[in-house]
Amino acid sequence: MQESSPNKSRPRLATVWLGGCSGCHMSFLDLDEAIIDLLQEVDLVYGPLVDTKEYPEQVDICLVEGAVTNLDNLKLIRQIRRSTRLVLSFGDCALTGNVTSMRNRIPVEDLLTAVYHEASSPIGAEAVEAVPALLPRVLPVHQVVRVDAVLPGCPPDVDRIAATLSALLDGQTVKLEPRMRTFG
Ligand code: SF4
Repeated sequence: MQESSPNKSRPRLATVWLGGCSGCHMSFLDLDEAIIDLLQEVDLVYGPLVDTKEYPEQVDICLVEGAVTNLDNLKLIRQIRRSTRLVLSFGDCALTGNVTSMRNRIPVEDLLTAVYHEASSPIGAEAVEAVPALLPRVLPVHQVVRVDAVLPGCPPDVDRIAATLSALLDGQTVKLEPRMRTFG
């Protein structure tokens, strides 16, 4: 596990959106005014809510929404693991594959043909070349990199997110109550 920079005054928080629907991030936004309090405690250094293009070095906590489904996801999650002290699977897609992994029964070529060529409004072959190459199977995050904590739910509700972040920022192990450990 990497150590945080000793000179930092506030933990560096990132949130990442891999193969997911953004519902987990929408739930994060449901923290509402508590986000203001959170931003008094952390520096939000990367994610869909900020404009940083490159994943930074020396991140303390990263919430990873979504499963690993394409080569871009794979590259990013490996970089996240190298640069982050605590990596969390944020939501059921990150934990289990969930909705994102429903395509695992379909060979990738058949999937692309159905979506890009045989759909009622075909998108065209050039689109296939523009999107990142799909992995043969969607993988939950822990099957690609080590994960330090999990936050189940589809999406995780606000109470779970708040309890998890509170524990981590206090330097505690995340111990969610039983009602917060359910899937779906
Ligand atoms: S866990 Fe649910 S809300 Fe989160 S990305 Fe997956 S489908 Fe969307």
